[in-house]
Parts: sequence; C-alpha cells; structure tokens
Amino acid sequence: MSLAQFDYMERYDYENLFLCQDRSVGLKAVIAIHDTTLGPATGGCRMWTYADEDGAIEDALRLARGMTYKYAAAGVNLGGGKAVILGDPKRDKSEALFRSLGRFIHRLGGMYITGEDVGTTLRDMEWIRMETPFVVTLPSAWGGAGPISPATALGVLQSMRACLEEVYGSADLDGRRVAVQGVGNVGFEVVKLLEQTGARVIIGDIDEDKVKAAVAEFGVEATDDPDRMHALDVDIYCPCALGGVINDRTVEHIRARIVAGSANNQLQEERHGDRLHQREILYAPDYICNAGGTIYDTDRLLPGGMNQQRAMENVRRIYDTMREVIRISKAEQIPPYLAADRFAERRIVTVGRARSLASSLDVRLG
Ligand code: NAD
Repeated sequence: MSLAQFDYMERYDYENLFLCQDRSVGLKAVIAIHDTTLGPATGGCRMWTYADEDGAIEDALRLARGMTYKYAAAGVNLGGGKAVILGDPKRDKSEALFRSLGRFIHRLGGMYITGEDVGTTLRDMEWIRMETPFVVTLPSAWGGAGPISPATALGVLQSMRACLEEVYGSADLDGRRVAVQGVGNVGFEVVKLLEQTGARVIIGDIDEDKVKAAVAEFGVEATDDPDRMHALDVDIYCPCALGGVINDRTVEHIRARIVAGSANNQLQEERHGDRLHQREILYAPDYICNAGGTIYDTDRLLPGGMNQQRAMENVRRIYDTMREVIRISKAEQIPPYLAADRFAERRIVTVGRARSLASSLDVRLG
C-alpha cells in the first residue's frame, strides 16, 4: 500500500483497511473501516470492474466514510464500513467466492457487518451468511427485513414535510405539486404515499413500462421528457433515479422551491449544493432523506430483533432530523448538505463522549 493511502486515511481519520485475497476462488476484495464510535462498521458489499486496484481501495474508503455519516445522522448506532470485490458481477460470481469473503468477514469478529449493494444481490448475501452471521441485508426467509423501499419512501415523505413546513409554514402535502423522477422501487412507493396525501403528482421514467404501471395504478400524470423533470413548474422536485442530477446542466433551471428525493449523491459536486442554497431552493440532503430503508433494515440488529412498529417509528423521525438540519443550516448560515455533515459529526462526538464516560464508570465499578 502506498503512503498516499495512509495520508488519505489520516486526513479523514479511518481506522482500518483490509485486503482479502483467495487465489483458489479468484477473490480480491477490500474492506474499509472508517469509524466504529457508534457501533460495528456496517455497509454493503459492492462488486465492480474497477480500472485498477487503487480505484477499488479509494471507492471502499470513500463509501465507508459515507456510511459513518449516514448512520450517525439517522440515529442508528452503527459505524461506517464498506467492502468491494474486484470483478465483473455478471461473469465472476460464484458461491465459493462469496463464502470465501464471508470467512474473511467472520475473521474480523463483528467489527464489520456487510450487506447488499451495487453488483450484489440477496442471493450473494445468503452465501456470505453460510460463513458468518455478520450480514444485515438478507431475504426475509433468512431473518432479514424483506423489501426496504416502502420505508425509504416514507422517509422521503417525512423530509418533504419538514421542508414544506420551513418554506410554506405548513407540512401539509395536500394540493402541493410534486415531480417524481424515476418510478422504480422507491419512486413507485413515493407516488403511492403521495396519492394518499392529496398531492398533485407528475411522474417520469426512461422505462416506459414503469411509467405505464404507475399511471395504471395511481392515475397520475406522466411527462414524456423524464430528463427535464428538474425544470417542471412544481413545489417539490423528487429525484428517485440516478445520482448527479443536480449539475451544471440542471441547477439553474430548477423551478421547485424544494428538492427532496431518494437518489444517492444527487449533487454532482458540492458547489451545486452551494448554488441551490444561493438560489434559496431548500435541498433535503440525500443521505438524510433516503435513510428510511437503512433504519428499517438495521432494526433487526437492535435488542429483541426486528420490530416493525419500532422501525417505522424511527423512520418517521426523519422529519425531526430534517428539521434539525434546517435549523443548523440557518443558525450557522451554511447549506443544508453541510449542516447534515455537522449534525452527523456532532452525534458521533456526543455519543463517543457518553460511551467513554460509561466505560470509565465500568472501570470504577469493576
Ligand atoms: P430502481 O432501479 O428500482 O429505480 C430507478 C428508476 O429510475 C428506474 O425505474 C429507472 O428506469 C429510472 N431512471 C433511470 N434513469 C432515469 C432518468 N434519467 N430519468 C428518469 N428515470 C430514470 O432503484 P431504486 O431502488 O428505486 O432506487 C432509486 C434511487 O434511490 C437510487 O439512486 C438508489 O441508490 C437510491 N436509494 C434507494 C434505496 C432503496 O430503498 N431502494 C435506499 C436508499 C437510496
């Protein structure tokens, strides 16, 4: 490993980086542990054809840090970690490969808990589970939470409500115009929930079958230009497709006063978040807005195992989290995407302090 990687780890305060190699099954994988203050480092396992090894290590490190922030802000007591497998998910998968990775994860003794991510499926998680209990996303038959999109969608609605409260003085969605870009797993569920609120919904998707299904189910309006949904004359622009949708091409044309959706990494660059803020468009930071699935999914790690009611209650609290992010943004005069980072960092420091007090108490009592 080059010194540049140590520099990077030092700059963002990473704890560990593990390289896993098993020639017998063709496994090359990286496990990055960012921060375990709140709990075991948790984050999905990505499989991707990286251009080179450094690219894979960088990706694992970057994604692991993102998970630290996501859990901290969501009020989940887990740290940030990520695994990446170097390989083509269409060609290079095998039971032996995932079981081998499972054994490496097991060797870490619970410091890292894995899950599904880009390029991996619940089937792959079953193979990992054959070697280690440290897997969070599993099919329901294996004790997993099952589909998480409805919880993600509920979190998106809670974020919308918090933003509406701020911008219009009322959290009510009734009569509000919402453009939902992408009606896949999450977008479809968002539309379902919006329909119950009296909101006026317009949808768009590059997949015509998905559009037809949503129109047939909910009778909503559809646009024939899904790529230009950011420019629609609506109150809320809700990106539920791909990342990078707030970029040089789109940012000046957004007419909604609120951007709140499930897509990951919506800001192509941070400066696009600055620009939204200058334009007085309230942006619900993606990792706050889309945390519902994660909150729901990880509930099974809490005492007593999966509790549906507790999980959904915690998802509903995204409303309060979003309100707090808006408060920090206003008090410190920073864009919401930065306020979300501050919020997460403060929780890590506060809980970390409480933990160290508790452990010094243990010593005294012991
Ligand atoms: P999905 O693949 O089921 O749905 C995405 C939809 O977007 C598809 O129907 C696709 O056809 C459509 N799409 C792609 N490009 C488009 C474009 N240019 N314009 C309009 N539509 C387009 O994925 P998903 O699980 O619904 O996730 C959606 C987003 O939310 C992703 O960014 C994902 O990372 C993020 N997310 C999902 C969850 C979850 O619970 N599934 C949790 C957190 C974050």
